[in-house]
Amino acid sequence: MSKVNLLGLSRESLEAFFAEQGEKAFRATQVMKWIHHRGVTDFAAMTDLSKSLRERLEAVAEVRLPTVEFDQASADGTRKWVFRLDSGNSVETVYIPEEKRATLCVSSQVGCSLTCRFCSTARQGFNRNLRAEEIVAQVFLANRLLEHEVVPGRKITNVVFMGMGEPLLNFDAVVEAARVLVDDLAYGLSKRRVTISTAGVVPAIDRLAEAVDVSLAVSLHAPNNAVRDELVPLNRKYPLEVLMPALDRFSPRSSIETITYEYVMLEGVNDSDDHARELADLLRDRPVKVNLIPFNPFPGSGYACSSNNRMHAFGRILLANGLCTTIRKTRGEDISAACGQLVGEVEDRSRREQRLQRMNIGA
Ligand code: SAH
Repeated sequence: MSKVNLLGLSRESLEAFFAEQGEKAFRATQVMKWIHHRGVTDFAAMTDLSKSLRERLEAVAEVRLPTVEFDQASADGTRKWVFRLDSGNSVETVYIPEEKRATLCVSSQVGCSLTCRFCSTARQGFNRNLRAEEIVAQVFLANRLLEHEVVPGRKITNVVFMGMGEPLLNFDAVVEAARVLVDDLAYGLSKRRVTISTAGVVPAIDRLAEAVDVSLAVSLHAPNNAVRDELVPLNRKYPLEVLMPALDRFSPRSSIETITYEYVMLEGVNDSDDHARELADLLRDRPVKVNLIPFNPFPGSGYACSSNNRMHAFGRILLANGLCTTIRKTRGEDISAACGQLVGEVEDRSRREQRLQRMNIGA
């Protein structure tokens, strides 16, 4: 029988695990603190548990981590790690230090099954969902690997699910991991500082607010279906007239009403004044924050990033229409750690080529 990896269990799940072992619920509190606060992975070192319990845990459970395959620092302080998983695949995680924040961009899948045309992860194909412990492990390891940083002991303050994969197509594991991230017994992150980003998986958006209370970002990238169908083919399944009402249902049910809309700036594709006005009309009277993302190129993408002037002109129209708008600063470009540049090592199992051809959008 394979051992249960306790790293990815939320407080409720860990309490259920101990109940099955005939143990009291407070064992979960003890063990979570050992693992996530103190970084202890060896049951023998968990000295406030009885010797017999420690031995029993040894037999049925484990705290196992991926290995660090690659660790690269950018000139701007961004760091990219490649973590090697049991299955032989690897995923990428990016650390983005700012003055008052230390953000970790985590992956939720090995590869991605979506086919957004401006994203290099999409070119990799899809292998599998990450397990909750493989998501939590990215935060666990980042904190460990940062222990000897310039600011010693600096801990991750924000987690964004904006690495490889579509988080809402790996719903259960992402929700379980997010519960661990916001739990005081583990990482204690504020729900405002844990953000799940989605290309717009409508049925999952409807389930999210009830499952875990964290922030939501939506990769919109277009103000109308014609452009969005091209850029985010998932839009053909959940077009704007279906997506927007789902987001309107989400806001009042979540304690964080404001949704962030990500909008990648692609020269000549979605960046005109007309697009900006159309976007302002689409988002009017909604609690939104718009984040304009400079497109990060990769070989063969076929797109270019809008000029700085264009991005600012676009942003000014949104601001003039009362939309809170920011332009994301690109970080870690020199080490391919910027948005949309994460590739990991993915053995494609999705027959991507065939699907792309079927959708007539080429590989
Ligand atoms: N699947 C999720 C999360 C992963 S992508 C989602 O779609 O939201 C995280 C963000 O990076 C998304 O907004 C995505 O559209 C954006 N992105 C992807 N490729 C990019 C690129 N080449 N340049 C800039 N942003 C990109």
